[in-house]
Amino acid sequence: MQTRIRDLLERAQKPLSAYDVIDALREHGRVAPPTVYRALQKLIDEGLAHRLETRNAYVACRDEGHACGHRHRAGFMICRACGRTLEFGDAEIESLLSRAAARSGFSAERVAIEIQGLCASCAEEDASSADAEQGGP
Ligand SMILES: [Zn+2]
Ligand SMILES: [Zn+2]
Repeated sequence: MQTRIRDLLERAQKPLSAYDVIDALREHGRVAPPTVYRALQKLIDEGLAHRLETRNAYVACRDEGHACGHRHRAGFMICRACGRTLEFGDAEIESLLSRAAARSGFSAERVAIEIQGLCASCAEEDASSADAEQGGP
């Protein structure tokens, strides 16, 4: 089950909600939602997938070698047009945020950075369609 879900997430070009996963698995027979939730949680625990808080959706970890173990430091850039999700980890940002938290006497346990916007190819398309609108006779 876990492997099937991981394959699904990896093939998907955008974040999938638990419902999306359940629906996709249903094509192959009955699935119990609690089993899916458990498998998703396991993938997250193992660092093979991440949950996007702002979207309540899941993405496969694209980090090379999964050396991340970065439940603390995963950041995501989510394209609002095509849904493509890019992952980044940055020690500098992480320590900056931890320092900011520490200054307030706050013990940070988890930091989630989610940036919404347009990916490079969608931004390009956006720019070229804007050009087309401005052009003409
Ligand atoms: Zn990752
Ligand atoms: Zn895009």
